[in-house]
Amino acid sequence: MNREMYCPFCKKDFKMEEKPFHWGEGVVALGFECPKCGEFLLTEKEHRKAVRTASNRSMLTLSRKMFKLGRSLAVRIPLDIAQKLHLKPKQTVELYTNAGTIIVKPN
Ligand SMILES: [Zn+2]
Repeated sequence: MNREMYCPFCKKDFKMEEKPFHWGEGVVALGFECPKCGEFLLTEKEHRKAVRTASNRSMLTLSRKMFKLGRSLAVRIPLDIAQKLHLKPKQTVELYTNAGTIIVKPN
């Protein structure tokens, strides 16, 4: 199903095709992929459903797409996770890398 959706990153409406998004560990949500930046946008209902499934399974990891921010790469932390861990904007975090993984540890 095609639908006109607003991409908050491109700040523009696009016609987007609905498709399944695999969050990881078998959690699938229906959403829309922005044709310009590639960000995957979920409706609020699908987002809540996926988060509920993930938290029922005590999952700590969800698949997210990185995006360019200046010369760096950035990843968005879903609001549910930010609230669960009491994360606030401008709070500092420590980054650890080991064996191809990154751990983000709030201070
Ligand atoms: Zn976009």
